[in-house]
Amino acid sequence: MTDTTLSTAAETAATAPAPRKPPEHAPMQQFAQRDGQLVVGGELLTTLAARVGQTPFYAYDRGLLRQRVAQLRAVLPAAVKLHYAMKANPMPAVVGLMAGLVDGIDVASAGELKVALDAGAHPAEISFAGPGKRDPELRQAVASRVLVNVESLRELAVLGAASRELGLPARVAVRVNPDFELKGSGMKMGGGPKQFGIDVEQLPEVFARIAAEGLQFEGFHLFAGSQNLRAEAICEAQTKSYELALRLAALAPAPVRFLNLGGGFGIPYFPGEQPLDLAPIGANLAALCARAAQDMPQAGIVIELGRYFVGEAGVYVTRIVDRKVSRGQIYLVTDGGLNHHLSASGNFGQVVRKNYPVTIGNKAASAEREVASVVGPLCTPLDLLADRMLLPVAEVGDLAVVYQSGAYGASSSPQNFLGHPHCVEVLV
Ligand SMILES: *Cc1c(COP(=O)(O)O)cnc(C)c1O
Repeated sequence: MTDTTLSTAAETAATAPAPRKPPEHAPMQQFAQRDGQLVVGGELLTTLAARVGQTPFYAYDRGLLRQRVAQLRAVLPAAVKLHYAMKANPMPAVVGLMAGLVDGIDVASAGELKVALDAGAHPAEISFAGPGKRDPELRQAVASRVLVNVESLRELAVLGAASRELGLPARVAVRVNPDFELKGSGMKMGGGPKQFGIDVEQLPEVFARIAAEGLQFEGFHLFAGSQNLRAEAICEAQTKSYELALRLAALAPAPVRFLNLGGGFGIPYFPGEQPLDLAPIGANLAALCARAAQDMPQAGIVIELGRYFVGEAGVYVTRIVDRKVSRGQIYLVTDGGLNHHLSASGNFGQVVRKNYPVTIGNKAASAEREVASVVGPLCTPLDLLADRMLLPVAEVGDLAVVYQSGAYGASSSPQNFLGHPHCVEVLV
């Protein structure tokens, strides 16, 4: 994910001899504390664990999800539509809650499409992206009347056939592989050769094909990258995306009604990272909305976010089953780890492993602290949730908690690996 280098060798030498304080995690203040414990969804963590009936589990806090949407609405222009990219957390109850709070749901498979439709999301506000949409999935999308963000010429042919068969013209936006990328992004998904979207150079052919197949052209989808904590980089990508879409609109077969400028808003996971400053992004989007009112008056601007909506509202909770000391180092062994939470173990796209924020949730306020490592039960050294962190002193039976776990948790982890029980997810 994002690699923030805080000091160069030259700086360190200049400020020697005082050893620099190591960078710390941004304070995790979203969950209150009571009786020395974390409070999640209004319940003491131990009460919540008893209610769930097993560890490990993920808990997502409804109040925090609502609060996050409200914060975004307060800062972004009212004209900007907020879409939830549900791959970040596809739990049906979460998607159901989000469907009632945001303006649309972005899906990336027919499986996600089903969850979004079941959740009550309106088909007019669902869009379907992804580089390998299979023929039956495209047919399902046409029958569902959702917007398809097309990523190849093949998709256009399949959509044309499905439209004729079903008597419904497919609604399409073109996912563009831009000629730039989102600087400082954890995962780059645009610029250069990519499996996502269609290169700008190929678009004249795509537009001709959309017209020939009789498809309903609605606009553009640009997504330059993910997990970015630099507001100025996000603003730059949004402005460049807008300007590219404006140039392409002149060639398009119909006026642009849908302009998805992507997202990429990050959350602080690692020591030294700070929350994203939304204010400049709100100001930049307001300027782009004003330009769009002149340049593309029918275009609705969409921002699609996954982790920014849900990531900070979730915790992963696992119970300590053993406490071991090996050559002076303390290991807290838990009943869950990378099999449920691959990203916290550092194995989901991170280049250098760093600790997520972790605490002992039923002793969060304890002043008695020690350096310990939290490891899962799997027979692999990769199963590491916290590497030598300063934590409240913990015993067998205590609850280790990983913060920032509402996105890319259960659904993006290899739950069958080593045959341990699956985790449970609750929305509280
Ligand atoms: C994954 C993805 C997102 C969500 O990314 P986050 O980092 O969770 O906000 C949004 N749009 C597209 C096209 C994606 O592939």
